[in-house]
Amino acid sequence: MTTKPQKPCPICRKPRAEEFTPFCSKRCKDRDLARWFGDGYAVPGRPASPEEIATSDWDKQD
Ligand SMILES: [Zn+2]
Repeated sequence: MTTKPQKPCPICRKPRAEEFTPFCSKRCKDRDLARWFGDGYAVPGRPASPEEIATSDWDKQD
């Protein structure tokens, strides 16, 4: 019997749900989209640099 260790939700680190893989819920899935579309990425008048994205501690927030 083999049990694969599941990676947690990349957004909130909770166990992921199969239905929303790799996220734990629709909320986190939507949040991930919002991250790319609305938070420091492709925002008019505020070009995001790769460094800014890389050093973002966005996903540490809850
Ligand atoms: Zn989550």
